[in-house]
Amino acid sequence: MANERLQKVMAEAGVASRRKSETLITTGHVKVNGQTIKILGTKVDDDDEIEVDGIPLQREKLVYLLFYKPRGVISSVKDEKNRKTVMSYFPDVRQRIYPVGRLDYDTSGILLMTNDGALANKLTHPKYKFEKTYVAKVEGIPTNDQLEKLRHGVRIDKKLTAPAKTRVMSSDLDKKTAIVEITIHEGRNHQVKKMFEKIDHPVIKLKREKYGFLTLDGLQSGEWRSLKLNEITRLT
Ligand code: URA
Repeated sequence: MANERLQKVMAEAGVASRRKSETLITTGHVKVNGQTIKILGTKVDDDDEIEVDGIPLQREKLVYLLFYKPRGVISSVKDEKNRKTVMSYFPDVRQRIYPVGRLDYDTSGILLMTNDGALANKLTHPKYKFEKTYVAKVEGIPTNDQLEKLRHGVRIDKKLTAPAKTRVMSSDLDKKTAIVEITIHEGRNHQVKKMFEKIDHPVIKLKREKYGFLTLDGLQSGEWRSLKLNEITRLT
């Protein structure tokens, strides 16, 4: 997309029609690399930064990738300790993607990667109540009374958690461990681990199995796929 007319680039990015974009330009609403541009023939390159009324134009194609994050990987774009990050799984993706929310270094499972900031904000905003389902291997076998506490909410970091759905899926009486499913819609730091800590059944292993309606079906650890159009529509 090198060297294209400013109004065409604006229209393609969904700012307004070409005609309306021309008006926005001539009336001084548009900046290119910090300079107001009012001349209609102006051409721009891929790396030129365009702002309309101070809002940067999203010029990259939006991408939505569903990733099966392995254990032992940092879910941020960079790591100051130089540990392996999720980005190493996307060497050929040109867009500046990042993870929506976080999974701990030692947590595996479903992680959405995108460059759509509006969607990332929406999905991580508490008011949206987007459900995430985890499967935890925990020490000991939680009683129904203990799980009931999680269902009602427990105090972590001085704040009550929102009601969770949870059930024991299986237990190992010899090893004194249980596999417990838990669905929450908040995204507080280490939330699931802290919740189980609170009922004295520390988490040994944690995996996120579901993100809203999205599952890991068909993916192996370390693999990813693009979301289908209907999945994107359901999310956005
Ligand atoms: N809760 C946690 O404790 N860890 C995660 O990675 C995600 C949710």
